[in-house]
Amino acid sequence: MLFVYLRRHVVLRSFILYSYLKRYCNLDSRNMQVFTQKRNPITGSTEWDVQHEDYDFHQEIARSAFADMLHDTERNKKYYRVLQLAIERMHSLGKKANVLDIGTGTGLLSIMAAKCGADSIVACEAFKPMAECCLKILHRNGVADKITVIPKRSTDITVGENGDMKERANILVTEVFDTELIGEGALSTFSHAHKHLLEEDCIVVPDSAVIYVQIVECPTLQKWNKLNDLADEDLDIILKTPKKMKECAGSAAVHDIQLSQLPRQAFRELSDQIPVFYYDWSGKTPVDFKRTVRQQFKATNTGKAQMVFMWWELNMDPEGKIVLSCAPWWSHSEADLSSERPQDTVPWRDHWMQAVYYLPREMSLERDKETTLISCQDEYSIWFYLEDEAIEQKDYKRPVCDCGVHMALSRTHVSYLNDGRRSKRFLSQLKEQLVKNAVVLDLNGSSLMGLASAKLGARRVYILEGANFNVAILNDYIKENAIGNVTVVSEVSDDVLEVVTNVTCDPNFSAAVLPWENLKVAYLLYRYGNKLRSMLSVIPEGFELWAMPVEFQDLHKIRIPLDVCEGIDMTVFDSLVESSRLISDAEIEAQPLWEYPCVSRGAPRRLLEIDLCALAPTYATDGANAVADIEVEGTRPVNGFALWSCWRIGGKPISSGPVEWPAVGERVTWDPHSRQAVKILKKSQEVSSADTWSYQVACDLEKGHFNVNVDLVLEH
Ligand code: SAH
Ligand code: ZN
Repeated sequence: MLFVYLRRHVVLRSFILYSYLKRYCNLDSRNMQVFTQKRNPITGSTEWDVQHEDYDFHQEIARSAFADMLHDTERNKKYYRVLQLAIERMHSLGKKANVLDIGTGTGLLSIMAAKCGADSIVACEAFKPMAECCLKILHRNGVADKITVIPKRSTDITVGENGDMKERANILVTEVFDTELIGEGALSTFSHAHKHLLEEDCIVVPDSAVIYVQIVECPTLQKWNKLNDLADEDLDIILKTPKKMKECAGSAAVHDIQLSQLPRQAFRELSDQIPVFYYDWSGKTPVDFKRTVRQQFKATNTGKAQMVFMWWELNMDPEGKIVLSCAPWWSHSEADLSSERPQDTVPWRDHWMQAVYYLPREMSLERDKETTLISCQDEYSIWFYLEDEAIEQKDYKRPVCDCGVHMALSRTHVSYLNDGRRSKRFLSQLKEQLVKNAVVLDLNGSSLMGLASAKLGARRVYILEGANFNVAILNDYIKENAIGNVTVVSEVSDDVLEVVTNVTCDPNFSAAVLPWENLKVAYLLYRYGNKLRSMLSVIPEGFELWAMPVEFQDLHKIRIPLDVCEGIDMTVFDSLVESSRLISDAEIEAQPLWEYPCVSRGAPRRLLEIDLCALAPTYATDGANAVADIEVEGTRPVNGFALWSCWRIGGKPISSGPVEWPAVGERVTWDPHSRQAVKILKKSQEVSSADTWSYQVACDLEKGHFNVNVDLVLEH
């Protein structure tokens, strides 16, 4: 389940491609049930669950970015237009138009080819369930006789009398790109196709691609990459970050992000956009599987080069007239810079974002001075260095983490630990509550608060942590900060429980994905129950679950049905996604909402409250709330709900949701250091002040189970 913490489609699309090919070949055996292992993040243990046999597959379909990709009208229209031009061109040369569609997915591009009058069409798809779904879509659209579907990876296709294809194709249309462009294996796909599947004089859609980068200083994003020293509200340093973590080259995994949502004042551009790699998909020049390119550039600003922003463009046609750009708004040719929110004037998509590559070493740049950028690429990934004259560097290897942090902790978790707003509050509460001769039990070893309490004067500290990676990080901090009175334990013994005076638990476990999975703290406290002293101090004191109806500006597109896409009936695909949603538990998912603008459509409501100092075995609440508090004329669209947690520390709530109270009808500002829970409605609903929304929450601290549901209740 590790992929859940990684971000979406880069992972999902390749995950689908590589992991499920062999395992899930038959979608029609619908009633088989199997036992599956599921990790329960609240209890920390693995539980057996009876699931539909294709549970994992459905989870993938339900969470995959296919829908969002098909909602990307700019992408669809440009492919359609250029494919049409290619077919017309072949015909005008007096040739037949024989199309090969690699990675057909739903069959979209092949059906377009059929509508444009292609003479023959071969569609291949490596993910077998998708290939099956494709066949049904072809039938529904009445083009099944025109398109041959090969449920194979293109590199396994044979050409010849007894092969999968009788003859080579002269038009290739394919969309096998991810946020990193080549992460889905595009290089081998194109290279093989030109050698074995295509005629020499072929037209390829898209014709070519360019990767652009920009060197920037962005302390905000650096918080997602490197742990800072932990400071209190007087800015005194409580814990120093170990040197090896400060110097680590970082994770090789790309940070994919909706760069356009980054506040403009949060970063400083240190260079213009620099084209670093050109990819000729047309076959005229051979594919480079490995390359290193050195380029001089002039710094446009003085500042600290910390990272590289990257995006790419596809030249769809050979003349380069039709371009599909993933640039963020400030580098996008179609952005309306005079608009109040220029980021809303460029096409939105989530299946391709922009990527951030943290430089292995920060480097100061001076305006107008030349520096050398080193761009490296292998078969599936790219990475960057700046040439540093002070250091003689012989090879520019792909950065790997040797400090543990980048392997053990998600980027969001690292940024949470760097969030001074929270840590300062926690530290000041610790200072206030640590009794004389305090014995502290920290229930979360993926936080630094146990170590901090040792520094703040606790006599003895026990940190509960079972994950080896997290234990190693704690040990490095212990060494760096010369802490002598901390013991990391994987179980808390009764002897320890009896002497504990303070329990602390930064409510953010590295294994938690949804906000309430941090209720592990309540689960553990309940379990330890009467073995703990009665006069115990607990930080945080309480948990609250909040929810609010919203209208997402774009995020709903990753889930809502397609119905018709460029005149093609996609309802077969919609029902596949729908049945997958029902079988998998993908109804409520975690999203970093600061990247996905939404408007509040009703006042936030507290659904559940748990007092950590007086725990009950079970909690259950339900109810209904008016959508509008204030009388509003007419109706307003609602297409989802956002849910988040609030933890009470020192009597005050600390929200992992909105950073200020959201006004109904206005854009919400979300805490960037947490992911929120999101429910996307199948359909946007017009809601009036007569309508309500309902909720049910159940929490069982004995079993460590949590369930929540929210939904609209419409009067009309
Ligand atoms: N062509 C569709 C789907 C694009 S998504 C559309 O434009 O809407 C990319 C698809 O290509 C995925 O379904 C993936 O499984 C498939 N794929 C990627 N590389 C492939 C290859 N070399 N051979 C066959 N399928 C491939
Ligand atoms: Zn590291």
